[in-house]
Amino acid sequence: MGKPTGFLEFEREEGKNIDPIERLEGFEEFHKLLPKEQQEKQGARCMDCGIPFCQSGILINGMVSGCPINNLIPEWNDLIYRGKWKLALKRLLKTNNFPEFTGRVCPAPCEAACTAGINGPAITIKENERSIIDRAFEEGLIKPEPPKVRSGKKVAVIGSGPAGLATADSLNKRGHNVVVFERHDRIGGLLMYGIPNMKLDKSVIDRRVNLMKEEGVEFVTNANVGDDYRAEDILNNFDAVVLATGASNPRDLKAPGRELNGIHFAVDFLRANTKSLLDSNLSDGNFISAKGKNVIVIGGGDTGTDCVGTSLRHGCESLVQFEIMNKPPLERADNNPWPQWPRILKVDYGQQEFEAKYGEDPRKYAINVKSYEGDSEGNLTKVNTVDVKWEKNDKGAFVPVEVPGSEKEWKAELVLLAMGFLGTQDYVSNAFGVDLDARTNVKAGYGNFRTNVDKVFAAGDSRRGQSLVVWAINEGRAVAKEVDSYLAE
Ligand SMILES: Cc1cc2nc3c(=O)[nH]c(=O)nc-3n(C[C@H](O)[C@H](O)[C@H](O)COP(=O)(O)OP(=O)(O)OC[C@H]3O[C@@H](n4cnc5c(N)ncnc54)[C@H](O)[C@@H]3O)c2cc1C
Ligand code: SF4
Repeated sequence: MGKPTGFLEFEREEGKNIDPIERLEGFEEFHKLLPKEQQEKQGARCMDCGIPFCQSGILINGMVSGCPINNLIPEWNDLIYRGKWKLALKRLLKTNNFPEFTGRVCPAPCEAACTAGINGPAITIKENERSIIDRAFEEGLIKPEPPKVRSGKKVAVIGSGPAGLATADSLNKRGHNVVVFERHDRIGGLLMYGIPNMKLDKSVIDRRVNLMKEEGVEFVTNANVGDDYRAEDILNNFDAVVLATGASNPRDLKAPGRELNGIHFAVDFLRANTKSLLDSNLSDGNFISAKGKNVIVIGGGDTGTDCVGTSLRHGCESLVQFEIMNKPPLERADNNPWPQWPRILKVDYGQQEFEAKYGEDPRKYAINVKSYEGDSEGNLTKVNTVDVKWEKNDKGAFVPVEVPGSEKEWKAELVLLAMGFLGTQDYVSNAFGVDLDARTNVKAGYGNFRTNVDKVFAAGDSRRGQSLVVWAINEGRAVAKEVDSYLAE
């Protein structure tokens, strides 16, 4: 521990965000890092706890507490305080293949579990992480390091999201020849075509992919395995296969009128926007525009927030975000103590931007959609809702019960469904003959990641269900270890 009194001397300080109104002008990243010397002081705030919950990655009540990839947080906090940034980088890369992704998009369960957070502001762990890796790239410290020896074994990774990329990177470093197949035209999975550019600039993904190419990983885009690429050919040509195809079946809200024009899944909206942005700076018009429309985002999570931020940038006429659950408390409830993940109200970037523009939060809680209405040409014009209250049913489970007389109608030309995902798409699991579990994810145990089919493994959202980038990296690293052992059998 560099500075025993650091947490007493220095306040938590984060890099600045570009003003919310100003940043609505475009899709550029808006979060800036602190100058180096200030970041070093943030490292000094870390107490090098005897039990560092920040790096524990344990599950409490089904939710993670601490870092799922067990980043060596107190070590690199101390190293940056001492100005030993190169050593900090070495420690960081021991546990995380892609800190430039997690340093931007992770919800930071490490900070939620940080001891300093019990009665004050947590250490700026996420920003310290990003600072280490961004500076390393800037200073030319990250160079291609191809393996010195090749094993001669070939591994196919299906899907290029963070799970597929972490698998490929880890197996390539072990000397195996890895080919990543991706059905889209760009590599990155939901990092590329889910999370918007203002949260994760796509050049950050390309930079990493180019590095992996220089290290020997092969990428094949526009390759839809199970459709235009035969699973049999892949099984015949490779020694092992890892399915990292994500959980891309979006949850629908099938109320009357669902067939009307103007109701879209959030990921279709976000994907088209990023593709058009990268292809033509949105000049090709190949995206679903919210410009001049009354927009309703259904779903209060991260995906919903990304729809809010994107719609505001398009110049929507109005926007409201529905959430069926009750509004969370502002402070931890008694049954949700530290170091559990805090179930409290989060005001994310999209809501901050809306608030800056309209002076209020866009979210409405405990509300459900009853029906959609349209005009004679089949275009959405209105959404009808009812308020709900959560009551226990006779089995003791909380269920939403409609509040009589609370019906309301909302003008809308665009509805974005952001209610999560229900498992993996079955054409790829059918093509490889792998079993699915009860939640329609690929059936493979955490730890060995083996499916029922010899030499076929599964990892990431396709195996665990909709989750986080950091878990995808965790599973990618772990499945690579298993595949490596399998190839040595
Ligand atoms: C809008 C949105 C915002 C999010 N924001 C965050 C966030 O801020 N922070 C966070 O931690 N998590 C976030 N998440 C969740 C996170 O992105 C996912 O948990 C993570 O990307 C899962 O990684 P994965 O590699 O398992 O799958 P994915 O990222 O889904 O990648 C799977 C890839 O497989 C490809 N594929 C599928 N089938 C085939 C096939 N048959 N042939 C070839 N390729 C195929 C897909 O095209 C895709 O590229 C967000 C999710 C969404 C939808
Ligand atoms: S829990 Fe917080 S203070 Fe303790 S070691 Fe981790 S980052 Fe440092």
